[in-house]
Amino acid sequence: MAIPVRKIWLNGDLVPWGDATVHILSQSIQRGSLVFDVMPVVDIEAGPAILGMREHCQRFLNSAALNQMVLDVDLDDLLAGVAASVAANPGCDLVKLSAYYPEVTVDVLPADATASVAIAAFSHSDLSPDPAPARPAAARLQVAETRKMPASVLSPQVKIAAGYTAAAIAKRKACAEGFHDVLFLDERGDLAESSTHSFFVVSGGVLRTAPLDIVLSGITRLAVIDLAQDEGIGVKVEPLPPELIERADEAFLTGTTTNIWPVECVDAAELPRPVPGPVCESLMARFECMLSGEDPVFSPRWLQKV
Ligand code: PMP
Repeated sequence: MAIPVRKIWLNGDLVPWGDATVHILSQSIQRGSLVFDVMPVVDIEAGPAILGMREHCQRFLNSAALNQMVLDVDLDDLLAGVAASVAANPGCDLVKLSAYYPEVTVDVLPADATASVAIAAFSHSDLSPDPAPARPAAARLQVAETRKMPASVLSPQVKIAAGYTAAAIAKRKACAEGFHDVLFLDERGDLAESSTHSFFVVSGGVLRTAPLDIVLSGITRLAVIDLAQDEGIGVKVEPLPPELIERADEAFLTGTTTNIWPVECVDAAELPRPVPGPVCESLMARFECMLSGEDPVFSPRWLQKV
């Protein structure tokens, strides 16, 4: 891969892409302690904007705090860093925040609890000359054999590299068996979330999604709940027993990289046709309108100009 002509914000300075590296023996590589967040950049008439920029930056700070990291940046520094990164990297469509320990150590703990912070603004075309593969119109989900880590072991609110190991293993198996992603159950056996998406079920006209002691507070999830309430759709945040799939009218995933993604099956259980169903379809249309900057209420509320 050619090195992209991009700049990465590293502890306050913009450095060339190829210089933003860490040692193989760094604590974060060896122990999986890097925390991160990813946010989408869209172009609206007023210029580049980010859906939930403050919420993403706040969630990143929360992840770092739950991981006991000391950061030299606060929310305002992060927001300024994101703006500087986006301005230095025209055409970017994703911003990834990372906090990590570059220290080389054999101990499980780094001697210095102060983490480095990097902000990378880039796009898929920087990583590959081929266009990003088109997302299938509807997702086929396989229930993972492993359960989500209980909150008593690791809070679902920490976006930490090590927390995605089980997701990567389960997703590889799911993809090899013809599915697009996995659906994790929580330790009690209720439906939780996919590898990197929040999960919603529509049944009896009500939108249901798992509570935050079980799943990550997805920023897209928050925006979708907000839109649904405005559309007059009932929303229940509650544990989702697996039998709910059998009587569900619709299901969908939400996340930064896919927005709203209709689900057509969970294991062998097919969701009723058409997919997307009417609730999902109306939310997708409303979400698109919001992202284009044209929704008079939700665009200003959720899209923050960079
Ligand atoms: N759950 C998990 C475990 C995730 O990693 C993500 C992606 N950040 C999501 C849900 C969706 O969150 P968001 O809408 O903020 O992308």
